[in-house]
Amino acid sequence: MSNGAGTGASPSDKRVLLLKPRGFCAGVVRAIDIVNIALETFGAPIYVRREIVHNRHVVNELAEKGAIFVHEIDDVPDGHRVIYSAHGVSPAVRERSKGRNLKVIDATCPLVTKVHIEAVKFAKQGYSLVLIGHRDHDEIEGTLGEAPQVTQVVSSAAEVDSLQVPDPNRVAYLTQTTLSLDEARDIIHALKEKFPNIVGPHSQDICYATENRQVAVRNVAHNADLVLVVGSTNSSNSNRLVEVSRNLGTKGYLIDDSRAIDPAWLEGVNNVAVTAGASAPEVLVEDVVNYLRQNGYASVEEVEVMPENVRFGLPPEIVQAIGGAGGNEAVPVR
Ligand code: SF4
Repeated sequence: MSNGAGTGASPSDKRVLLLKPRGFCAGVVRAIDIVNIALETFGAPIYVRREIVHNRHVVNELAEKGAIFVHEIDDVPDGHRVIYSAHGVSPAVRERSKGRNLKVIDATCPLVTKVHIEAVKFAKQGYSLVLIGHRDHDEIEGTLGEAPQVTQVVSSAAEVDSLQVPDPNRVAYLTQTTLSLDEARDIIHALKEKFPNIVGPHSQDICYATENRQVAVRNVAHNADLVLVVGSTNSSNSNRLVEVSRNLGTKGYLIDDSRAIDPAWLEGVNNVAVTAGASAPEVLVEDVVNYLRQNGYASVEEVEVMPENVRFGLPPEIVQAIGGAGGNEAVPVR
């Protein structure tokens, strides 16, 4: 890029606001660790059902090391080792793996598992379930599969109107972990209007990482002329960060890396806020910041909106494989 970086603003005025927290969450770190450890311990090839996390860069890097990404369990040869992605799987997928004698390593994020457990609990108690989320997302496919006979998916407040249930006094809702806080609130509000006795999870299903990254954008967007979100187009939480910015009236774009930046976006822009979705590696954030530096944004200021310190233990299959080191419990530490 030659000239697009901010006509009308002197280089000394131009700065990058680097949001924190940003990028990898504990569930993504754990999932990538699981694939790497499995490759080191068992050797290639290791099959992975779907993208381990929704980021092309991460998937390509693991594929180069010997991970083979498949769409379905049927694509894994009998008896081989397969890793479930961070987004989770339905019981039907677990059954199919059993039937094929596959050696399963489960990289489902513990916070997705929490939602699965809630779905099973509500279904057992005789509730009709409303699952708030995006129908085409891997996570919703997995959660829906826990109680498909009693679960309906809604993606917007408008869809709530047409919901039909056998008993309006026995309805429960759950949500995808990576929704927009604002949108989920509106949908839950519409559900409460339609079903005043509806019950929900004890603590919200939207995960800490999704919430923190959205809160960071919400806090900083008003000081920025442009928000760049590093993340892949199929990453739900990354898309939500763009929406948060745009809803606040600040232009926002989702970019895989610096090559996706259109120089025209930077015209007349003094302050660029940069963040990253929970599946986007820091190396891509650095690439974007370097690009901005080279284009006149000399000052880079990290803006920490809140501290974040969450780690999850590895699953038992991996702990056993590496000789018992680590724990098999998911332990969020805030
Ligand atoms: S975004 Fe949230 S639910 Fe998804 S992997 Fe990360 S911590 Fe888990």
